Amino acid sequence: MLTAKVIAFPLRPPRAARRPPGTLRFDALLDACVSCGDCVEVCPQSAIAWDLLGYPVMIDGVDCVCCGLCADVCMHGAIKLTAATRRGLDAAQDEDDARD
Ligand code: SF4
Ligand code: SF4
Repeated sequence: MLTAKVIAFPLRPPRAARRPPGTLRFDALLDACVSCGDCVEVCPQSAIAWDLLGYPVMIDGVDCVCCGLCADVCMHGAIKLTAATRRGLDAAQDEDDARD
């Protein structure tokens, strides 16, 4: 179900659109993504929107900080952790542990 309100209109066609880091290639994304909106909602940068097909796409001009949360929250395997986003997620976990 689509839950977010922002729809991006990327200049690139869907197959070449800029997706969150670690997003599956387009054909696999179509199979895996259920357009639940969890990645859109979790992004601390509000960097993810919907494309016109209902799949997550990066908003032009908004920086990704490689926190890894979009991959972490995706229960359908449509966004995988990359080396960079795994580091980001690990760093956030280390900060949480230090606070505890
Ligand atoms: S969390 Fe995964 S399944 Fe849900 S919209 Fe994002 S990519 Fe698609
Ligand atoms: S890695 Fe973090 S900042 Fe980058 S798109 Fe995903 S949730 Fe947003």
